[in-house]
Amino acid sequence: MKILVHSCCAPCLTYTGKWLRENNFDPTAHYYNPNIYPEAEFVKRYFVLKSYAEGKNIPLVFGFDKKRTPPGDCENCYKTRLLKTAEYAKSNGFGFYSTTLLISPYQKHDLIREIGERIGDEVGVQFLYHDFREGFNESRIISRELNLYRQKYCGCKESINVKASAIAA
Ligand code: SF4
Repeated sequence: MKILVHSCCAPCLTYTGKWLRENNFDPTAHYYNPNIYPEAEFVKRYFVLKSYAEGKNIPLVFGFDKKRTPPGDCENCYKTRLLKTAEYAKSNGFGFYSTTLLISPYQKHDLIREIGERIGDEVGVQFLYHDFREGFNESRIISRELNLYRQKYCGCKESINVKASAIAA
């Protein structure tokens, strides 16, 4: 079952990608994160993800536009990223889409699920919900073992100054 997984960074894809494969999904990662500030951080997270995905033979789609999501508006930030992922999935023959954001205990989990399911209905591609938070600690262990870069903040400018444990992935 082909699934397009919106991926915020490599560490969050570690457990998520593994779980998907163990559950008969064939994941492709989608890097579409116009929220990430500054650009150097956006690029850094992308290249770490690219290297990880290549090592695991997970195809990676790079989604980019110049539109920036307003800092601190998490609902709009989720919507922007999930809509783009759902639309790409729909146009490219994926039966499902999902997001690595569901692994983070620091994100607004229920809101992500609600938005993901609503957009899935609107676009016509099924949102796969799973509570990946069960694998958050495992993702940290894998990331440490592979020496993956782990950012200290969620992504937008505003989140740089927020204590990592408050909202960061
Ligand atoms: S805190 Fe994170 S989810 Fe919220 S707007 Fe900023 S980057 Fe997006």
